[in-house]
Amino acid sequence: MPKSQAEHLKQWDREYIWHPFTQMKDWLQEEPLIIDSAKGVYLKDIEGNVYIDGVSSLWVNVHGHRHAAIDTAIAAQLKKISHSTLLGLSNTPAVQLAKQLIAIAPAGLTKVFYSDNGSTSVEIAIKMAYQYWQNTKATKKTTLVHLSNSYHGDTLGSVSVGGIDLFHKVYRKLIFKTIALKGHGWEAVDDLEKLLKARGKSIAALVVEPLVQGAAGMLVWPKGALKKMRELTRQYNVFLIADEVATGFGRTGTMFACQQEQVVPDFLCLAKGITGGYLPLAATLTTQKVYDGFLFDHKDQKTFFHGHTYTGNPLACAAALANLEVFKKERTLSKLSPKIKYMAKTLKMFYNLPNVVDIRQQGFMAGLELKGSLEDRVGAKVCRQVRRYGVILRPLGNVIVLMPPLSITIEELDFLLMATYRAIEDIESGR
Ligand code: PMP
Repeated sequence: MPKSQAEHLKQWDREYIWHPFTQMKDWLQEEPLIIDSAKGVYLKDIEGNVYIDGVSSLWVNVHGHRHAAIDTAIAAQLKKISHSTLLGLSNTPAVQLAKQLIAIAPAGLTKVFYSDNGSTSVEIAIKMAYQYWQNTKATKKTTLVHLSNSYHGDTLGSVSVGGIDLFHKVYRKLIFKTIALKGHGWEAVDDLEKLLKARGKSIAALVVEPLVQGAAGMLVWPKGALKKMRELTRQYNVFLIADEVATGFGRTGTMFACQQEQVVPDFLCLAKGITGGYLPLAATLTTQKVYDGFLFDHKDQKTFFHGHTYTGNPLACAAALANLEVFKKERTLSKLSPKIKYMAKTLKMFYNLPNVVDIRQQGFMAGLELKGSLEDRVGAKVCRQVRRYGVILRPLGNVIVLMPPLSITIEELDFLLMATYRAIEDIESGR
């Protein structure tokens, strides 16, 4: 791209865009990095610099950018229709995808409700769970329970079940009241048990991010805790909502995190990787029991009155179908397991860095926690530095997130890890 055009883009970015999760005062002091194209795990900016996409374009990319099969599927769908509604009509790829999602989801989930981002997939699960109890005359079951440090999205319903003060505190008076479980892991399980014993009859649902609490800083659950939460929620007739927006589609090493503990939730929330990271699409899967709790006469007014304009968008569904096809054809999950092991082995070395205080990994989701207070912004500094070595990362506070596309090769992974190591070392030594 000619230099003058690149300069214009930078200027217009500063002038017109308000970036998400970004203190714009800081942004305006820095050179914006503008991505123009990509191939495989590499992103290319408007100046021709190339970087490894170390966080899969915010945890969404699965098989790499511009994957031929997904590109072709979207192009073929473009020639048929780009959008038609699911309100009062249906469309071919949405039907085909629903069938496929049910085929790969934990057995017992039988229905698919589409939307277009992770937050709405959780909002829908919350609203369905709540309304199910209202519809079936268990009207006292109104309270939602979640983990501390939970993150389920940015719309107000999903913020209500969120527990990250930095993001959520300011809205506390605006959102609905919930119960946050104390502690993590087994401590949270114990707290859940106490709560359900004391007032299970008033609880509508428990919402969790199974196996890994992503935005909390890649907090990994102890083995068996999810299964125990499932047993308890069943025992006390409380729905379990599994938000697999981040963990779904292979991230933890299996297609869905719940499958590692043979857990079947009442709701499974999917987004991000569902289209291979190409287009916005989300799905909330649920059971026959929940679905049947909404089957009444129209006049009873117990319909699920919810639906976003782009729900079940055909282009996005075509991308999602191709994504699932690539999982099969390329045996993505079996090829992933040596990469997970390689990452685990290499990450151990990072303990040699005095600033690294904890390393957490579950499958292909990893977090390196660095010393320092949030004000030090050490995570942001490392991510800034690592660009010099040809890698894009985005931290969560002091936690460096490593979440490359599942398709990354061992050589590329090694490059990513070594670049990260050097960047942490540089920041430690004040370079
Ligand atoms: N749930 C989880 C577990 C997430 O990690 C995220 C996004 N990082 C969301 C929900 C929200 O998804 P979206 O940004 O697509 O609304």
